[in-house]
Amino acid sequence: MRVSAKEFDMGLIRVEDLRKVYRVDQEKIVALSRINLTVASGEICCILGTSGSGKSTLLNIMAGLEKPSKGRVVIDGVEVTALSEKDLALFRQKNIGFVFQSYNLMPTLSAIENVAMPLMFRGISKDQRNREAVKMLHAVRLGNRLLHRPTQMSGGQQQRVGIARAFVAHPKIIFADEPTGNLDSKTTKEVMEIMVGMAREYQETLILVTHDQDIARYADRIVTIVDGNIQADHTNESAFPAQRQEKAQELTTVSGGKAE
Ligand code: ADP
Ligand code: MG
Repeated sequence: MRVSAKEFDMGLIRVEDLRKVYRVDQEKIVALSRINLTVASGEICCILGTSGSGKSTLLNIMAGLEKPSKGRVVIDGVEVTALSEKDLALFRQKNIGFVFQSYNLMPTLSAIENVAMPLMFRGISKDQRNREAVKMLHAVRLGNRLLHRPTQMSGGQQQRVGIARAFVAHPKIIFADEPTGNLDSKTTKEVMEIMVGMAREYQETLILVTHDQDIARYADRIVTIVDGNIQADHTNESAFPAQRQEKAQELTTVSGGKAE
């Protein structure tokens, strides 16, 4: 269902008065109380909160994997919370990439075959799909693991395959729920730098869910969620200061004036 042209301009993702209540036996669990959030195209937005605060519920509803109890989500002019399951599946295929905490790679497939998967339904020839997959695997620095299966790779390498798969079709939005939750700190840094670097290079919108303050620092914006409510929402000035400076420099050069 498309919304009006006026609404279309108001951010790539809009979350309005979102509420999610789970019922377990007689108990009511308010996972999301009332969430309002707008994310711009190209933004790297972190949803930060402790375990049980509602992060995954919010991500799953934004990505069209779960239905809210109340409220709606609009992505690029489409009210995803109003789509049927069948239309949702198509919408996700076309517009959304996922990076999972547990990688979710197909165990019997090679790195190339795993990465090429999202291109299967796009009418692209097998040769072309494989070329794109190889290109993405080089981008995540796995050019020397093209034919390896998941069990033949470390956790960090598997997650880099997961990242290549999420980006290969250049979806509008990439959702990552605790993408480094199973990795040690050195590998976490490596994986985060690759994922955020690719999001910037391809100007992807990235929604990153984490409980870890150190990971939140990679994002442009940090939305803190407590007990199903947004408690804080601020720009992260410390995100990639070097890149920001470079950009400012570029602008100065182009305009011949002061950038900021
Ligand atoms: P987070 O990802 O921040 O750890 P979740 O979104 O997974 O938090 O969960 C938020 C709250 O909702 C928690 O109290 C959790 O127990 C509850 N919850 C999540 N999913 C379900 C479910 N399918 N059924 C019942 N309660 C759930
Ligand atoms: Mg979670």
